[in-house]
Amino acid sequence: AATNRPRRPEWLKARAPGGANYHDVLRLMREKGLNTVCEEARCPNIGECWSHRTATFLLLGDTCTRGCRYCAIGKGKPKPIDEEEPERVAESVAHLKLKFAVLTSVNRDDVPDGGAHIFARTIELIRQKVPDCKVEVLIPDFDGNWDALAMVLDAEPDVLNHNIETVPRLFRRFRPRAKFEQSIELLARARAARPHLVTKSGMMVGAGETNEEVYEVIDRLREADVNVLTIGQYLAPDASYWPVHRYVTPAEFADFRAYALARGFRHVESGPLVRSSYNAHLHVGAAQH
Ligand code: SF4
Ligand code: SF4
Repeated sequence: AATNRPRRPEWLKARAPGGANYHDVLRLMREKGLNTVCEEARCPNIGECWSHRTATFLLLGDTCTRGCRYCAIGKGKPKPIDEEEPERVAESVAHLKLKFAVLTSVNRDDVPDGGAHIFARTIELIRQKVPDCKVEVLIPDFDGNWDALAMVLDAEPDVLNHNIETVPRLFRRFRPRAKFEQSIELLARARAARPHLVTKSGMMVGAGETNEEVYEVIDRLREADVNVLTIGQYLAPDASYWPVHRYVTPAEFADFRAYALARGFRHVESGPLVRSSYNAHLHVGAAQH
């Protein structure tokens, strides 16, 4: 598949970034020395999300201890944890008057709690400074450290998101060092600990999986009582990454969505440009009913 890459279809063209809100957000991120996934992952929705004042902050630095084959975030030995980061993120959320902040991070297998205390502290500070801002955490797997998960849950995020990303068959190559069953267990444990918490997961398609395998993953996520699901097209950051195997059509995305809703998900975003935090501000309300 790598030598015969499919052409990128029309439906993947997103709006170019621009507008006053977008430039406000960009300036502040630079001033505060903050990292966003929107930029690091070269997300195609940056114009739309930032102009709606939804942004995804990348906590715990910009260097990851893992090496997922699809991910454009820098890999290697990270800098020490910056204990001041929660304060700067919360100040930025306040300055930008964000309505919805998504907090995520690289994996920090180099520190015992995987950085969970930074998630918890950032949630607490946002609550203090901007009480009406909803907070979603998109957490790593903490390598199965369930005390770290509990630390994040104790800070009471509005939404707990952990992406499954792909089907079990591709995990080993696509996401070395992550484990499908461990990620399912994380979601099930979050549900067991917080029966009313909105939980969420997402995956990328077009990376070599079959549609049948996608349906199986949807079933597994429902068994873990996940409420919100996002499914989007995998796009390689550049030719050195895991190749795109196919472009899933809008009709196939619509089929995934219909299936997931019929299985009991309360909110589903499924489409070529859907990313984990795309329209995140709409998910909480829809899922809380
Ligand atoms: Fe940022 Fe998420 Fe929106 Fe992409 S979808 S621009 S990562 S908030
Ligand atoms: Fe990228 Fe997350 Fe994988 Fe690290 S763990 S390489 S940040 S996808």
